[in-house]
Amino acid sequence: MGTTTETGQSTRTYPGSSPGAGETSTDPEHRNAPARAAGQVTSHAFDRELEERLVRYARIDTQSDEKPTTSPSTQKQFDLLNLLVEELKSIGAAEVKLTDYGAVLATIPPTVKADVPRVALLAHVDTAPAYSGTGVKPIVHRGYDGGDIVLPDGPNVVISPAAFPYLASKRGDDIVTASGTTLLGTDDKAGVAIIMTVVRHLLAHPELQHGTIRIGFTPDEEIGRGVHRNLPADLNADVAYTLDGAELGEVVFETFSADKAEVHVEGVSTHPGQAKDKLVNALHLAAKIIDTLPHVTLTPETTDGRQGFIHLYQMSGTAAAADLHFILRDFEVDALGKHGELLKRVCETLQATERRARITCNITPQYRNMRYWLEKDMRPVELARQACRELGIEPVETPIRGGTDGSRLTEMGVPTPNLFTGMQNIHGPHEWISIQDMRRSVQVCIALARLWSAEPGDARPGVESDGRSAD
Ligand SMILES: [Zn+2]
Repeated sequence: MGTTTETGQSTRTYPGSSPGAGETSTDPEHRNAPARAAGQVTSHAFDRELEERLVRYARIDTQSDEKPTTSPSTQKQFDLLNLLVEELKSIGAAEVKLTDYGAVLATIPPTVKADVPRVALLAHVDTAPAYSGTGVKPIVHRGYDGGDIVLPDGPNVVISPAAFPYLASKRGDDIVTASGTTLLGTDDKAGVAIIMTVVRHLLAHPELQHGTIRIGFTPDEEIGRGVHRNLPADLNADVAYTLDGAELGEVVFETFSADKAEVHVEGVSTHPGQAKDKLVNALHLAAKIIDTLPHVTLTPETTDGRQGFIHLYQMSGTAAAADLHFILRDFEVDALGKHGELLKRVCETLQATERRARITCNITPQYRNMRYWLEKDMRPVELARQACRELGIEPVETPIRGGTDGSRLTEMGVPTPNLFTGMQNIHGPHEWISIQDMRRSVQVCIALARLWSAEPGDARPGVESDGRSAD
């Protein structure tokens, strides 16, 4: 493929000791780097630091697991959490703390005197249970030549710009991949590396304007347990951003609203030899429920864009009793409620045809579209857009067909849009990221910190208006 391929075996330790290092482009490996596309920043500040941090964090196995009820769900997440505590202390962050539920918190003290909103930057340390995160061997492909990337440990794993068009736009960038048998873990170690670089840079440059910046590294996002009930109070921020998004420019402030539904069917069990007019087969009733629900609409496989769905994702049972597990999704809570009503009506209708059975349907809320709160005060989104545009990046504002830690945090009173990191093809062996996308993310965060330092502290996002009017 003609690019310089490194195995990422570097053991040099970055940080702390030499604040500001890497901000001048003295690295000889960069003198011949291909020209960047128009509009891209040509300075190489941050690139080597981001690469070193991402490679080092990605090697640490931090896979979460939904079975244990502990927080964090897996002890190995402490391997990275504890490392981050030490690194934050060594680069001079204040109030560095590891909570009993496994979140690392820290503060960058303000450089402005005015009372301005407190801004948090968040990333999660765990990787997805869906694919192996053990023995990750990150590979750095410097100055990507635009061709196929073949991974050494999984020769059938080819990351091709034909299959992944976004990669085609990254010619000349430094691309990081795994080696073919594991995920890479940019979701969300890219976010962790970006935030750590922001922290190190801001602490090394007290001349840069910002208010109090809070840092949060959380466990267990991938199993939906990233936002502990104490997190909003412990974080103590007026506004937050998760660094957990994908392509360059992504500013996400719309997520699904989500409920889950559990349908239980209790039949009447008898010996099949003497079952005439007695047996009520729960499996047959469960099958009828499934069959009565829409198949060619309202399923994940037949919807996209802003359409919602009812998704049966697990079923189990015997002739005596059966359980059906659904997730319900829509961007609008009214429509979400209608999906739930439809499922309930199907259950009730079937119940009416077979009085001897007992059919129950329990619907519980999971998370809500963050737009409902953000649209009351769009400054968190507007300043993110402004930070992107200052850097020549056009914001990409696609609603995401899923949830984020920010969905829960926003609902709990801390408005939390999600920002890009550059991560691509996450949760599998084809995962990759551009170091230069990560750099742009660092720059957006630094710009955001400055923009918030010009906002009045007495009109904090996330706090209900007390009726004062500026009109
Ligand atoms: Zn993530």
